[in-house]
Amino acid sequence: MPARKATNTRPRRAPAVDVFKFGGASLADAAAVRHAIGIILDERPSRTVTVVSALAGVTDALLAMAELARAGDMRGVDSAVDRLHARHRAVAEGILSSQRARNSLVKALDVAFAELRTLAHGVASLRELTPRTRDFLVARGEQLSAQLVVAGLLGRGAKAQYVEAAELIRTDGVFGNAFPDLAATDRLVRDRLGPLLRRKVLPVVPGFVGGGVDGALVTLGRGGSDLTATVLGRALKAQRISLWKDVPGLMTTDPRLVPSARIVPQLNVREAAELAYYGAKVLHPRALIPLARIAVPVFVRPFADPSAAGTEISTRHTLQRYPVKALSIVRAQALVTVTGNGMLGVPGIAARTFAALQQAGISVTLITQASSEHSISLCVPAERSKDARTALEQAFALELSRRELEGMDVKTGMATLAVVGLGMAGSPGIASRMFTALSTSSVNIVAIAQGSSELNISVVIAERDAEAAARSVHDEFQLDKIGGGGVRSDDRLDVILLGVGQIGRELLRILPRTRRRVKPTIVGLIDRSGYLFDPDGLSAKQLLAAVAHKEAGASLTSMPQALRATAPEAVAQIARHALSRPVLVDLTADETLPAIRKAIGADWDIVLANKKPLSAPRAEVQALRALAAQHGARILHETTVGAGLPVMDSYAKLVETGDKVLRVEGCTSGTLGFLLSEIGKGRPFSEALGDAMKLGYTEPDPRDDLSGMDVARKALILARLIGFTGDLSDVTVESLVPEAFRAMPVAKFKSTLAQQDKMWAERQAAAVRQGRVLRYVLRATPTKVKVGLQAVPPSHPLAGLRGTDNQIVFTTMRYREHPLVITGPGAGPAVTAAGVLNDILQLTPA
Ligand code: ADP
Ligand code: ASP
Ligand code: MG
Repeated sequence: MPARKATNTRPRRAPAVDVFKFGGASLADAAAVRHAIGIILDERPSRTVTVVSALAGVTDALLAMAELARAGDMRGVDSAVDRLHARHRAVAEGILSSQRARNSLVKALDVAFAELRTLAHGVASLRELTPRTRDFLVARGEQLSAQLVVAGLLGRGAKAQYVEAAELIRTDGVFGNAFPDLAATDRLVRDRLGPLLRRKVLPVVPGFVGGGVDGALVTLGRGGSDLTATVLGRALKAQRISLWKDVPGLMTTDPRLVPSARIVPQLNVREAAELAYYGAKVLHPRALIPLARIAVPVFVRPFADPSAAGTEISTRHTLQRYPVKALSIVRAQALVTVTGNGMLGVPGIAARTFAALQQAGISVTLITQASSEHSISLCVPAERSKDARTALEQAFALELSRRELEGMDVKTGMATLAVVGLGMAGSPGIASRMFTALSTSSVNIVAIAQGSSELNISVVIAERDAEAAARSVHDEFQLDKIGGGGVRSDDRLDVILLGVGQIGRELLRILPRTRRRVKPTIVGLIDRSGYLFDPDGLSAKQLLAAVAHKEAGASLTSMPQALRATAPEAVAQIARHALSRPVLVDLTADETLPAIRKAIGADWDIVLANKKPLSAPRAEVQALRALAAQHGARILHETTVGAGLPVMDSYAKLVETGDKVLRVEGCTSGTLGFLLSEIGKGRPFSEALGDAMKLGYTEPDPRDDLSGMDVARKALILARLIGFTGDLSDVTVESLVPEAFRAMPVAKFKSTLAQQDKMWAERQAAAVRQGRVLRYVLRATPTKVKVGLQAVPPSHPLAGLRGTDNQIVFTTMRYREHPLVITGPGAGPAVTAAGVLNDILQLTPA
């Protein structure tokens, strides 16, 4: 490999922490908690920080219980506590198999619920519920579920530890809606979790909770566990944050509202933040703020299907043909309008309005000022509309008394609909398309607001119109077509390269020179570390940078835009996007069947230079072929035998024209061809092999070539074409590595080559005495496959081979007397890449 110097290619040390958050909607019962524990242990056995929500419905139940206490309803409180206790006990009993562990967990729950009861009784007797006490009570939900998860992990033999949220998350202390002090929290988290992670302990943290002033517990607002996860991910510079939810990903809209909602494969963080802020329940409104400057990708992942890709929220901007990517609907809103001539030209009315409402702890979902500046309207949750009115009346008491403001109008029964997308700024007419769609479905728009970011447009509508409005806007922006493998264009062919080694780099070099109307577009690169992807095609600059990285020995994920993933994960993630005739090109020498199966499952075609997939056990290859047939996927693999020589192509043409191949023979190892022809010239084995290594003809360990396994794989692929039903283990292989040299380390093997010179000189001399030449030959019939050293007579076609040339000989019904012979260079990146390109072009529309 040429050691070209490249700038900027030193791999950054990979931050290796994962943050998992399990949402309440997912944690329904013992089976669900067991499933969550399984996910933690399956995905990463170490370096995972887990955040848990309260069990499904528990936060609501605790809040309701607190209200009963405030009302002094002692019996109501008791039965609520009993129900919660029973639920948690049932989970405890269902997640632990050891009786002892179960007993001690059940005891701990008994203590926790006794405390909770005492506290609630206290509230009930005083009939006073302060925000502080309410937060303290509600925090119990998360604290309990985190304890259950820790116990479950310990029960499975993992090292896990409960870490109190207040020890990690310092906040502004606002009860019910606290926000973290990010800098202080960063330090606490690193100090507290760093040592645990280094010891491979799995920390489990209750979500939704933080520490306030003077040791109080506070909560972070409904849905706050999302925020806990991003705050921890930020502090630890996690490689990713996974939010496990009860949906397949972040969707174009709430699937409960619009059944044709689709998974959005990737969203820019600004889009997702806007969507959350405008009320998409799937994310806490402020969850992405901690990640504004620290680019940790967040994945919304389906709890029910851990292998699915979900939605990636990251700094990229993909799916650019969709100016609008998602929409959110918030129901139960009230529109508060402040009117009056006194507003004209008076600065700061909007700011004062906001401030007044914020002080009262009321969240404003939308604010709009009429162009006349005669009125200002804002949306607040309907249940807070009375409080909003009071707060505003107080704030503007003076103006109201002077009649500069006429008064407040409050309309309940409203909903807001917001559309979000980065592409909106650049595409005019989005608003008018939205309004037309709404009016076509007879939805009346009560107010309009465009976010200053130009990332969103929001409208206020009557709540009864919400569903119709969501559907019509969803249709208008074709959101039911986003993502998921839909064919995008006939004029493209999207290539995803698996493996960016020598052949890959050569392919990237020659691909732009193809003379076809439709040029294949490289949209993705995958290596062992992760992947780089852009559905609109990776730019020449990105490709060059990737090549430079790989040549310098770095992995793809050391590039800023790349994401960490296994190959099957990368394929799944890429397959979420709408691609045109996607082709996975496997240039590795790895076990890639799982990734290939994923690709075929997504209707991709496959081009293989890798020999392993088709030389795998027969049942697996048959299953792969069946899957391909079912999906109409083609598998081309010309370069698995004889590099760019038209071996498979010739075979296919013979069969298509009704011929039958009886036998295949040949020399298909450039390395062994070179070695044997050098020995044939009288050179010692050690010298000849030394040259082969220097010229880059061998694998890093030359025994991989000398063992004959590479030829055996090719022989098996050819044999299977003509009906051989065996496996690699049924191929008779003669290894050229003497027994004594097989187990030693590579370095030792390389330094003792001369010890084999005598043996090779004798073999060579014997062949010469018979007037023959040595070749490493494969021979395959439908019943027998054999590879090994042979002395062939000079009249044999194989005798004439030179250097790294390959030869494949088909004996067929038609070519029985004079077999069909294909000869030529059969190794090296240049000819192999050309062969791969030829396969890709076969799949490309003319
Ligand atoms: P968690 O269990 O993590 O707290 P939530 O219940 O807060 O998860 O969020 C998931 C819910 O959000 C889903 O059940 C879905 O009904 C709702 N939802 C609203 N908008 C969307 C959207 N755009 N994509 C996915 N889910 C959405
Ligand atoms: N349990 C809390 C809630 O229901 C926090 C969360 O689930 O994220 O709002
Ligand atoms: Mg939530």
